[in-house]
Amino acid sequence: MTDAESTSGAAAAPTGASTPAADCAARLGRAPSPPPPERFAVLLNCIDGRTQDPLVEWIRRELDVTHVDVVTEPGVDGVLARGEDTTVQALLNKVCVSRVAHGAVALVIAGHHDCAANPGDSAWHLSDVARAAHNLGRALPELPVRAVYVDETWTVCPLPDNDTPGSGTAQ
Ligand SMILES: [Zn+2]
Repeated sequence: MTDAESTSGAAAAPTGASTPAADCAARLGRAPSPPPPERFAVLLNCIDGRTQDPLVEWIRRELDVTHVDVVTEPGVDGVLARGEDTTVQALLNKVCVSRVAHGAVALVIAGHHDCAANPGDSAWHLSDVARAAHNLGRALPELPVRAVYVDETWTVCPLPDNDTPGSGTAQ
């Protein structure tokens, strides 16, 4: 289908782009650092401790990265789906630190079962995570976004990629 599928094997390296992480560099007002030799991804997750290890392990495996930078916010899928703009912008800035300092190749947004800060059933979270991924794709169009849900067995379930806009989507 779309090249977003390619992130399941190995997230696309930022080849050919004028300046990798230019959108984040502009947002933070700093130039990207030379990235470390290891591949990084960045995770936007709830604070919930039950979800951290499964997510980091899944991301390492699925996105073929060595390290996962983690930005946490209680009920982050709900915040990014319909939260206050100042909070959303603060989260985007934190993601961008990973992008400009570590050259993160992909962003994962997670929602999860039994979330204290964003209570709802799986359908609720699947909707929020999809909307959050859509919003993230618009805000940071250079960064591939994967949306996932951590279910009642603490298994990471990726959403289909069809709701994440590709690069070049009009803002
Ligand atoms: Zn939670």
